[in-house]
Amino acid sequence: MKGYIAVFCGSRSGNNPVFVDTAKEVAQHLVDHDFGLVYGGGKVGLMGVIADEMLALGGEVIGVIPEKLFTKEVAHAGITELITVQTMHERKAIMADKSKAFIALPGGIGTLEELFEVFTWAQIGYHKKPCALLNVDGFYDPLNEMLDHTVASDFLAQDYRESLISKNTVGELLKEVISKIDL
Ligand code: AMP
Repeated sequence: MKGYIAVFCGSRSGNNPVFVDTAKEVAQHLVDHDFGLVYGGGKVGLMGVIADEMLALGGEVIGVIPEKLFTKEVAHAGITELITVQTMHERKAIMADKSKAFIALPGGIGTLEELFEVFTWAQIGYHKKPCALLNVDGFYDPLNEMLDHTVASDFLAQDYRESLISKNTVGELLKEVISKIDL
Protein backbone atom coordinates (compact mmCIF):
# COMPACT_ATOMS: atom_id res chain seq x y z
CA MET A 1 0.00 0.00 0.00
CA LYS A 2 1.18 3.54 -0.77
CA GLY A 3 -0.19 5.04 2.45
CA TYR A 4 -3.37 6.54 3.84
CA ILE A 5 -5.56 9.43 2.73
CA ALA A 6 -7.83 11.15 5.25
CA VAL A 7 -11.40 11.72 4.15
CA PHE A 8 -13.53 14.19 6.11
CA CYS A 9 -17.26 13.80 5.44
CA GLY A 10 -20.69 14.09 6.98
CA SER A 11 -21.89 12.11 9.96
CA ARG A 12 -25.18 12.44 8.05
CA SER A 13 -25.79 11.39 4.44
CA GLY A 14 -27.37 14.58 3.10
CA ASN A 15 -30.53 14.70 0.99
CA ASN A 16 -29.08 13.96 -2.43
CA PRO A 17 -28.35 10.30 -3.31
CA VAL A 18 -25.33 11.49 -5.29
CA PHE A 19 -23.52 12.11 -1.98
CA VAL A 20 -23.72 8.44 -1.02
CA ASP A 21 -22.80 7.30 -4.54
CA THR A 22 -19.80 9.63 -4.49
CA ALA A 23 -18.57 8.38 -1.12
CA LYS A 24 -18.62 4.84 -2.56
CA GLU A 25 -16.80 6.03 -5.66
CA VAL A 26 -14.05 7.59 -3.54
CA ALA A 27 -13.57 4.24 -1.77
CA GLN A 28 -13.26 2.50 -5.12
CA HIS A 29 -10.63 4.97 -6.33
CA LEU A 30 -8.63 4.75 -3.09
CA VAL A 31 -8.50 0.96 -3.35
CA ASP A 32 -7.71 1.08 -7.08
CA HIS A 33 -4.80 3.47 -6.39
CA ASP A 34 -3.60 1.36 -3.46
CA PHE A 35 -4.37 3.83 -0.67
CA GLY A 36 -5.99 3.12 2.67
CA LEU A 37 -8.58 5.33 4.36
CA VAL A 38 -8.21 7.33 7.56
CA TYR A 39 -11.50 8.71 8.86
CA GLY A 40 -13.46 9.55 11.99
CA GLY A 41 -14.25 5.94 12.92
CA GLY A 42 -18.04 6.13 12.89
CA LYS A 43 -20.72 4.02 11.23
CA VAL A 44 -23.17 6.83 10.55
CA GLY A 45 -23.79 8.97 7.47
CA LEU A 46 -21.22 9.27 4.68
CA MET A 47 -18.53 8.20 7.16
CA GLY A 48 -20.16 4.79 7.49
CA VAL A 49 -20.78 4.54 3.75
CA ILE A 50 -17.16 5.11 2.77
CA ALA A 51 -15.78 2.81 5.49
CA ASP A 52 -18.15 -0.03 4.57
CA GLU A 53 -17.36 0.32 0.88
CA MET A 54 -13.60 0.29 1.52
CA LEU A 55 -13.95 -2.91 3.56
CA ALA A 56 -16.20 -4.53 0.94
CA LEU A 57 -13.48 -3.83 -1.63
CA GLY A 58 -10.72 -5.25 0.56
CA GLY A 59 -9.22 -1.86 1.46
CA GLU A 60 -7.59 -0.83 4.74
CA VAL A 61 -9.44 1.51 7.08
CA ILE A 62 -8.19 3.30 10.19
CA GLY A 63 -10.81 5.07 12.30
CA VAL A 64 -10.01 7.58 15.05
CA ILE A 65 -12.86 8.26 17.45
CA PRO A 66 -13.15 10.06 20.78
CA GLU A 67 -14.59 7.89 23.55
CA LYS A 68 -17.50 10.29 24.02
CA LEU A 69 -18.65 9.80 20.42
CA PHE A 70 -18.59 6.00 20.57
CA THR A 71 -22.37 5.83 20.90
CA LYS A 72 -23.35 8.95 18.94
CA GLU A 73 -21.32 8.10 15.84
CA VAL A 74 -21.61 4.33 16.40
CA ALA A 75 -17.95 3.29 16.44
CA HIS A 76 -17.28 0.93 13.54
CA ALA A 77 -16.27 -2.46 14.95
CA GLY A 78 -15.30 -4.05 11.62
CA ILE A 79 -12.52 -1.75 10.43
CA THR A 80 -8.84 -2.63 10.20
CA GLU A 81 -7.86 -0.45 13.16
CA LEU A 82 -10.04 1.60 15.51
CA ILE A 83 -8.10 4.10 17.60
CA THR A 84 -9.91 5.47 20.64
CA VAL A 85 -8.85 8.89 21.92
CA GLN A 86 -9.99 11.25 24.65
CA THR A 87 -10.37 14.52 22.76
CA MET A 88 -11.25 15.94 19.35
CA HIS A 89 -7.78 17.51 19.25
CA GLU A 90 -6.13 14.11 19.63
CA ARG A 91 -8.42 12.72 16.96
CA LYS A 92 -7.44 15.36 14.42
CA ALA A 93 -3.75 15.17 15.29
CA ILE A 94 -3.66 11.38 14.73
CA MET A 95 -5.72 11.61 11.54
CA ALA A 96 -3.36 14.27 10.19
CA ASP A 97 -0.24 12.43 11.22
CA LYS A 98 -1.23 9.15 9.55
CA SER A 99 -2.36 10.67 6.25
CA LYS A 100 -0.54 11.76 3.10
CA ALA A 101 -3.40 13.98 1.89
CA PHE A 102 -6.78 15.33 3.03
CA ILE A 103 -10.05 15.25 1.10
CA ALA A 104 -13.35 16.79 2.18
CA LEU A 105 -16.54 15.27 0.80
CA PRO A 106 -19.87 16.99 1.47
CA GLY A 107 -20.59 17.27 5.18
CA GLY A 108 -21.57 19.58 8.00
CA ILE A 109 -19.67 21.89 10.31
CA GLY A 110 -17.47 19.05 11.61
CA THR A 111 -16.28 18.38 8.07
CA LEU A 112 -15.64 22.07 7.44
CA GLU A 113 -13.76 22.41 10.72
CA GLU A 114 -11.53 19.43 9.94
CA LEU A 115 -10.78 20.68 6.42
CA PHE A 116 -10.00 24.21 7.54
CA GLU A 117 -7.73 23.04 10.29
CA VAL A 118 -5.47 21.07 7.95
CA PHE A 119 -5.66 23.82 5.32
CA THR A 120 -4.57 26.44 7.85
CA TRP A 121 -1.82 24.14 9.14
CA ALA A 122 -0.47 24.00 5.58
CA GLN A 123 -0.61 27.80 5.32
CA ILE A 124 1.59 28.22 8.39
CA GLY A 125 3.98 25.52 7.16
CA TYR A 126 3.13 22.68 9.55
CA HIS A 127 2.85 20.25 6.61
CA LYS A 128 2.97 20.13 2.82
CA LYS A 129 0.24 17.55 2.27
CA PRO A 130 -2.41 18.26 -0.39
CA CYS A 131 -5.81 19.50 0.85
CA ALA A 132 -8.82 19.03 -1.41
CA LEU A 133 -12.56 19.50 -1.81
CA LEU A 134 -14.82 17.19 -3.76
CA ASN A 135 -17.26 19.68 -5.21
CA VAL A 136 -19.89 17.13 -6.14
CA ASP A 137 -23.07 18.61 -7.61
CA GLY A 138 -21.78 22.10 -6.77
CA PHE A 139 -21.99 21.43 -3.03
CA TYR A 140 -18.88 23.48 -2.35
CA ASP A 141 -19.60 26.33 -4.82
CA PRO A 142 -20.58 28.73 -1.98
CA LEU A 143 -17.39 27.84 -0.09
CA ASN A 144 -15.25 28.41 -3.17
CA GLU A 145 -17.00 31.77 -3.65
CA MET A 146 -16.26 32.68 -0.05
CA LEU A 147 -12.59 31.83 -0.52
CA ASP A 148 -12.43 33.95 -3.70
CA HIS A 149 -14.10 36.78 -1.79
CA THR A 150 -11.52 36.35 0.98
CA VAL A 151 -8.74 36.74 -1.60
CA ALA A 152 -10.50 39.75 -3.19
CA SER A 153 -10.69 41.33 0.27
CA ASP A 154 -6.95 40.77 0.70
CA PHE A 155 -7.23 38.42 3.66
CA LEU A 156 -5.80 35.42 1.79
CA ALA A 157 -3.00 35.08 -0.76
CA GLN A 158 -4.10 33.99 -4.24
CA ASP A 159 -1.43 31.30 -4.55
CA TYR A 160 -2.39 29.83 -1.23
CA ARG A 161 -6.08 29.89 -2.13
CA GLU A 162 -5.20 28.03 -5.34
CA SER A 163 -3.40 25.35 -3.36
CA LEU A 164 -6.78 24.04 -2.16
CA ILE A 165 -7.67 21.51 -4.84
CA SER A 166 -11.33 21.54 -5.89
CA LYS A 167 -12.72 19.18 -8.53
CA ASN A 168 -16.23 18.14 -9.51
CA THR A 169 -15.52 14.46 -10.11
CA VAL A 170 -13.82 11.76 -8.07
CA GLY A 171 -11.53 10.75 -10.93
CA GLU A 172 -10.18 14.27 -11.51
CA LEU A 173 -9.81 14.91 -7.79
CA LEU A 174 -7.90 11.72 -6.96
CA LYS A 175 -5.63 12.18 -9.98
CA GLU A 176 -4.68 15.69 -8.86
CA VAL A 177 -4.32 14.80 -5.17
CA ILE A 178 -2.18 11.73 -5.84
CA SER A 179 0.07 13.67 -8.24
CA LYS A 180 0.84 16.07 -5.37
CA ILE A 181 1.48 13.45 -2.68
CA ASP A 182 5.03 13.06 -1.52
CA LEU A 183 5.27 9.23 -1.60
P1 AMP B 1 -20.32 16.71 10.45
O1 AMP B 1 -19.71 17.18 9.17
O2 AMP B 1 -20.75 17.85 11.35
O3 AMP B 1 -21.39 15.68 10.26
O4 AMP B 1 -19.14 16.00 11.27
C1 AMP B 1 -18.26 15.13 10.59
C2 AMP B 1 -17.25 14.57 11.54
O5 AMP B 1 -16.48 15.65 12.09
C3 AMP B 1 -17.83 13.83 12.73
O6 AMP B 1 -17.05 12.67 12.93
C4 AMP B 1 -17.64 14.79 13.87
O7 AMP B 1 -17.46 14.11 15.10
C5 AMP B 1 -16.35 15.45 13.47
N1 AMP B 1 -16.14 16.71 14.18
C6 AMP B 1 -17.03 17.66 14.49
N2 AMP B 1 -16.45 18.70 15.13
C7 AMP B 1 -15.16 18.37 15.26
C8 AMP B 1 -14.02 18.99 15.84
N3 AMP B 1 -14.08 20.19 16.41
N4 AMP B 1 -12.85 18.33 15.79
C9 AMP B 1 -12.76 17.11 15.21
N5 AMP B 1 -13.77 16.49 14.63
C10 AMP B 1 -14.96 17.08 14.66
